Amino acid sequence: MTLEDAQRLDEADPLAFARERFSLPEGKIYLDGNSLGALPAATPERLADVAGRQWGEDLIASWNAHGWIDWPARIAAKLAPIVGARPSELLIADSTSVCLFKLLAAAVQARPGRTAILTERGNFPTDLYVAQGLADMLGLQVHAVERSRVADAITNDTAAVMLTHVDYRSGTCHDMAAINRAAHAAGALTVWDLSHSAGALAVNLAGDGSDLAIGCGYKYLNGGPGAPAFLFVAEHLQTELRSPIQGWMGHAEPFAFDDGYRPVEGIGRFLSGTPSILALAALEAGLDSFEGIAMADLQAKSQCLFQIFVNAVEARCGDQVRLASPRDPAARGSHLCFAHPHGYAVMQALIARGVVGDFRAPDLMRFGFAPLYNRYEEVWRAAEILGDILDRHEWDQPRFHQRARVT
Ligand SMILES: *Cc1c(COP(=O)(O)O)cnc(C)c1O
Repeated sequence: MTLEDAQRLDEADPLAFARERFSLPEGKIYLDGNSLGALPAATPERLADVAGRQWGEDLIASWNAHGWIDWPARIAAKLAPIVGARPSELLIADSTSVCLFKLLAAAVQARPGRTAILTERGNFPTDLYVAQGLADMLGLQVHAVERSRVADAITNDTAAVMLTHVDYRSGTCHDMAAINRAAHAAGALTVWDLSHSAGALAVNLAGDGSDLAIGCGYKYLNGGPGAPAFLFVAEHLQTELRSPIQGWMGHAEPFAFDDGYRPVEGIGRFLSGTPSILALAALEAGLDSFEGIAMADLQAKSQCLFQIFVNAVEARCGDQVRLASPRDPAARGSHLCFAHPHGYAVMQALIARGVVGDFRAPDLMRFGFAPLYNRYEEVWRAAEILGDILDRHEWDQPRFHQRARVT
């Protein structure tokens, strides 16, 4: 493939128009939308309106006048086509870590007598830490097994199977429907973390029979740094399950100011406290950038970007780097890792040349493809620049070995 071939693919790309929905800096090839999504062009004005006009002028009346109180559910409804769920099964709330704690706690408490939370070794750290903290609190065990052994490790003692759909390092994707079936056959509930899938893959929570799920708002959903997270509770579980954080926003009548807690019917009981309105406004602009776009088309573009990048890197760099992600499109998400013994320094050299990915210890250079805004030409050029850096040992400079706090 040549640069001209890649440019022809961009010209023929039916999703090319979506890039106009984003403000991307000139001269940068941004391949880190799986970690922090790009800024939607509409976000600054939306934030200025909510802060300046709504908050500034209408003040507290905005809770009713602008419907702020309903935003966690109203904005969550825009996620329904993105993750394959009913609007009434989704809510925007808290952070990913906190949403995970809430749903995992609700799941294990709905399975009294069972003592294990089953997960995968090498799962995203916050997921493992949250599970361990909850297990310590309730006297349960976290059972972490190799990915290939998860389905077989589900037993009658498993309360919940907690997995990340797309692995944050390798990009390997679990078969959601198969794990759900195996868990249900043993009477366990599933809790999925969609942080690296929502907004890049055609996720089908309801169709695949998932029980519970959570995910990030600031990755492929473009909600802005530290955006609130989302949670999903399958409709048939909403009456049975209880949030461990019994906040007033999940009460049947918060403004009755009762001393006793009575959870509201439906998904609303998984709210805790007052929603973060400015952050919700930014997240809504992020979700609006998906308007009119079918997730199957996005996933198809993601797979094509992935393939072109892999082909170009392998053609240009040979065996200087090793693909640490599945080649099978059905087995992976929308990012990949190439391993290199000096991956950190090579990534810093790439960033200095305007190609932005990130680094995951011990030796992985991670590149994400956000099919809403990445172009074929960009991934082709990124491979070319990587090859150049490796050929010329450009990464081997003291400034590129200096570890920053966030990698
Ligand atoms: C990014 C990510 C998180 C982040 O959790 P926060 O609470 O938003 O910091 C959690 N889980 C997975 C799998 C992630 O990729």
